[in-house]
Amino acid sequence: MTDTDNQAASSPSGDPYLLTPGPLTTSLTVKQAMLHDYGSRDATFIDLNARMLERLVAIVHGEGSYISVPLQGSGTFVVEAMIGNFVPVDGKLLILINGAYGQRIAKICDYYRRDYLIQESPEDVPVDVQQLDAALDADADISHVVVVHCETTSGILNPIKEVSEIVARHQRSLLIDSMSAFGALPVDAREIQFDAVVASSNKCLEGAPGMGFCVARESAIEKTQGNSPSLVLDLYEQWRGMQKTRQWRFTPPTHVLLAFDQALTEYEVEGGVEGRGGRYRANCDLLVSGMREMGFKTLLPDELQAPIIVTFHMPLNPEFDFNAFYDGLKDQGYVIYPGKLTVADSFRMGCIGRLDQQHMQDALDAVKNMLNHFGIDKIL
Ligand SMILES: *Cc1c(COP(=O)(O)O)cnc(C)c1O
Repeated sequence: MTDTDNQAASSPSGDPYLLTPGPLTTSLTVKQAMLHDYGSRDATFIDLNARMLERLVAIVHGEGSYISVPLQGSGTFVVEAMIGNFVPVDGKLLILINGAYGQRIAKICDYYRRDYLIQESPEDVPVDVQQLDAALDADADISHVVVVHCETTSGILNPIKEVSEIVARHQRSLLIDSMSAFGALPVDAREIQFDAVVASSNKCLEGAPGMGFCVARESAIEKTQGNSPSLVLDLYEQWRGMQKTRQWRFTPPTHVLLAFDQALTEYEVEGGVEGRGGRYRANCDLLVSGMREMGFKTLLPDELQAPIIVTFHMPLNPEFDFNAFYDGLKDQGYVIYPGKLTVADSFRMGCIGRLDQQHMQDALDAVKNMLNHFGIDKIL
């Protein structure tokens, strides 16, 4: 497909592959793109920045009615910025929660003293759209609803299209945390009504970490002036400032942006949402079937599993030692992730980043080696 595939497969940087929720394995060409020092007023850099803003809007097919605005920091910075900007002091946010990232949004509201309501589902169950409908019927004060697209805690896919239809029918405003899905699963403004979606440079778009962004309906962000309780996280001012000067308000993460520009090119070459999402789906299918063959059990049934990160139940065999398993996989070149569930003891393996089916197969072989090492032939 692209010449970067071969380079990534040979792991020229010598680093282990990251089967994690991010930061992720990036291509060599993305890493190489950072070998420059640009000043923030450099014309090449300013053009690159302007190009990025358009490309992000194009990913949601929002040309003409949506804008994008970037922000320094990890993904949570831009989630916090979205809440602080879009939910006004006299607003009320309904938070649909089925994992740690939804919980974190409630915590943000506590810090910001924003009025909110939570509607919680278990971690292995999608958010409940009927309950959402009833909640909006019952409470006219709810001005905004926020949903996490793929809840990375479990890897579950939430039904954002159904959520958007209900929120639109009730004429409220929808905010989406699509951090771990954006670029691999569609967020299409022609099909889904939303006021803002946030994601970051280092997940499915396969850039370096250090930057988040918000793609927002222009008519919605226009009304957010003065809402932000934070100076640095003020998306309205960041957007207006960039419109006026084409520059970031504060030191831009120039190297991260150089990497992101290259990452977006590789994303487009791969075929956008279809291409990237297709590779991740193939990775996910291979991972799940290979792990099941060895006897591991997934938390989620296939129809709820997003092709992003997979949660496996921790084996009950007394010989299975998770720390030794983790270290042994790392020694073989694969980093996995501990579980974050409250409902079950688990671990996670990601299928995103610059990984293909050969990497997944090699990771499965590494898992098999560890089972042999433990002397386990049947997972309990
Ligand atoms: C990764 C992620 C975030 C942001 O996490 P950071 O560690 O701050 O980058 C937010 N929401 C979801 C769903 C995520 O997967």
